[in-house]
Amino acid sequence: MSDIKVVTIADNEEYLRQVSLPVEFPDESLKRDIELLEEYCREHEVFAMAAVQLGIPKRIIYLKNTNLDMVKKIQSDSVSDEDKDYNEARILINPVIISREGLTDYWEACFSCLDNLGHVRRPYKITLEYLDINGNKHIEIFEGFEATVLSHEYDHLDGVLHMDIADEVLKMSVEEMQKFRLEHGYNIVSKTGNYEELMKKMVKKK
Ligand SMILES: [Zn+2]
Repeated sequence: MSDIKVVTIADNEEYLRQVSLPVEFPDESLKRDIELLEEYCREHEVFAMAAVQLGIPKRIIYLKNTNLDMVKKIQSDSVSDEDKDYNEARILINPVIISREGLTDYWEACFSCLDNLGHVRRPYKITLEYLDINGNKHIEIFEGFEATVLSHEYDHLDGVLHMDIADEVLKMSVEEMQKFRLEHGYNIVSKTGNYEELMKKMVKKK
């Protein structure tokens, strides 16, 4: 195990609250930054990670596991040897969400937010513009659970934590979280419609 540490709300919440800066190409430390993210994510059971969580305040997101079937296998401890090292290893640099559609909810956890499990509503589908490690621009649609994971990490780049936008926060241990999330899984409210409008309706219902 390496000694890379994740920044948490307990040791430096202010650090997590900063707005990360865009990567400017060429960036000489980018390769090292990505290696750190890669190493941390390989060694820990995370879905994804924003660079700022590892002390790198740049707009970089690493996606490891946005596959809901795989998530369920891991949470129910039925992961095979073959799937043990599952890693999408996707790097998204300077991401910008262009559009948000639909509505979902999920009890989100975060390595930086320790024992806080938060019920968060996110878009079902997002259109994202981002750069790859060579600085080439891509536009891609992320749908379903991957849109939830990505939206969570995207917020980190702006210093926003899931517990800030959750409509309910519960405190529990990692083991309790695992169990709780097996019973309260990812939920699709609507696959279509304007996200902001759908959110407004939700607020009215409360
Ligand atoms: Zn997080």
